[in-house]
Amino acid sequence: MSIIKVLSENLVNQIAAGEVVERPASVVKELVENSLDAGADKISIEVKDGGKTLIRITDNGKGMNREDLEMSVQRHATSKITDEKDLWKITTMGFRGEALASIASVSKFTIKTKESGSVAGYQLDSNGGETVSIQEVGMSDGTQIEINDLFFNTPARQKYLKKDSTELSHITSSVNTVALANPGISFKVIHNGKIVSDYPKSSDLLSRIAAIFGNATSDAMIPLYYGGTDIGIDGFVGKPAISRSSSQHQYFFVNGRPIQHFVLANTIKSAFHSMLMENKKPVFVINIQIDPALIDVNVHPRKIEIRFEDQQYMIRTIYNVVKTAVEKADLIPKGFTESRRYMSESFPVRRPEGDSSPMSFSSKDVHQNMMDFSSHVSSDRDVQPLEEEDVSIKAITQVANSYIVAQNSEGLVLIDQHAAHERVRYEELMNEFENQKKSIQPLLVPLQMELSGDEKSLIEDNLEVFSNLGFEIEEFGGNTFIVRGTPACLASEDLDSVIKGVLDDIIEQRSPSKFQGKVEEILTYMSCRSAIKFGKPLTLGEMQSLIDQMEDLKRPYTCPHGRPTMVSLTLGELEKMFGRK
Ligand code: ADP
Ligand code: MG
Repeated sequence: MSIIKVLSENLVNQIAAGEVVERPASVVKELVENSLDAGADKISIEVKDGGKTLIRITDNGKGMNREDLEMSVQRHATSKITDEKDLWKITTMGFRGEALASIASVSKFTIKTKESGSVAGYQLDSNGGETVSIQEVGMSDGTQIEINDLFFNTPARQKYLKKDSTELSHITSSVNTVALANPGISFKVIHNGKIVSDYPKSSDLLSRIAAIFGNATSDAMIPLYYGGTDIGIDGFVGKPAISRSSSQHQYFFVNGRPIQHFVLANTIKSAFHSMLMENKKPVFVINIQIDPALIDVNVHPRKIEIRFEDQQYMIRTIYNVVKTAVEKADLIPKGFTESRRYMSESFPVRRPEGDSSPMSFSSKDVHQNMMDFSSHVSSDRDVQPLEEEDVSIKAITQVANSYIVAQNSEGLVLIDQHAAHERVRYEELMNEFENQKKSIQPLLVPLQMELSGDEKSLIEDNLEVFSNLGFEIEEFGGNTFIVRGTPACLASEDLDSVIKGVLDDIIEQRSPSKFQGKVEEILTYMSCRSAIKFGKPLTLGEMQSLIDQMEDLKRPYTCPHGRPTMVSLTLGELEKMFGRK
């Protein structure tokens, strides 16, 4: 007797549901995506008990006629693609024709739908995937899908559902994701009769970010823009101050489709260079527009991963766009920002400060944005540079031989002298390294260093890096090395302890960041080892000179490990603290 049987259609659907429908939030995601594909601009999501007993999605999209309604709950029934060629140019959210069939197979399910222009709508009821009835119903244009008792016939799945509040938070976060990709569409989430999210239609992404995460977040966003012929990128990255320890607030959309991309997320972090603490993750909302033929979205059942045909190109472009935007951003106390603004005035691709002009996510807008953009560039040129005197930070005194107290026109600035000097050193060394214009200072008396066995092999491994940094180090025989020259900026340092300190750091792998290459790593150690120590008394002149050096830096506001170099208290904040406001 044969033991192999073909599975029943319904069982196949339930198995597929295992891939697509994990929890109420995945139902919401699929149904909201269908509403978007149907052209809706108003979507409401009502749930009860974390979505376990009821999920009701109502849209004002194009609706379905009676035949399509019947077909829609069948597996592999889709209006979105017809042949294999279409798979390579997908522009809709759905295309697998699986969601409705899968969801219907594990719930009590009702669709009501009406096309505009048709007199009546139709209602389809199904129970565990079996269509029970189809009848005419009076309703307004659009579609309403109601899912009662999700997983009622698959108790094993039901068991895995979490507390209502947890399921609700999955639902709201999946609505947030879709809402960020579609600022022009209004969304409302209602739980047990109470409105929990209400995002009105908005013309730009920044207001949508504000509606979802609040003004503190939207105020700390740096705009990004890239308009290439092959790809368009726009959106926002958050300043380091609002970075998170989880990747929860990292959003990528490729042609409007939310995706997860670990490699690109890491690329963005590395574009922040040494401005983020190692355990922090940048917040971002980034939209990529790309020819659908250059990506494969069909690599994951829930379509949350995609493959880029040329991933390396994507990585390089994202890296450069983010790095440039971050370097241009207003991340620091007033004095620095203003002087930097006019130092870098010639930079061509930039929106004016405080501009919240549309950063819409639809692909047709990319070109419009590019046009808007060129007009912004010229207005940007009109920005008047401030006078140097207006903007400088003045040292006042030192506290605990470790912190510099200073002021600028905004208020009080406190500087961590070691972190600040580390940053200065880092950029000096990096500059010499990058420009290969080493200013080598020959030592009058060459330094003889005795190294241990492991130090010796380390210095041998890194001799080229040291030499590129401006060190002239020679093997002398045995474990002895001779230092004949040093980068000029280190000339007055105790070289023996700087070099040995760096070797210690390498041995102990106090690695500043996984994303830094060998040179950056050694530069970080080198700057730490040669920077003014915590606890060292400084004269007012030395303090001011450190501040002046910082004002010329590309990234003055964090040390190479990502810790802040300075914090500021504005006069407004001081007034608040003293109860004057
Ligand atoms: P897919 O989205 O992959 O095509 P689904 O199972 O999610 O598959 O949906 C099947 C079909 O039902 C869709 O292709 C679409 O034609 C129709 N449909 C689903 N939801 C809606 C809706 N809210 N409005 C109009 N048509 C819809
Ligand atoms: Mg779908």
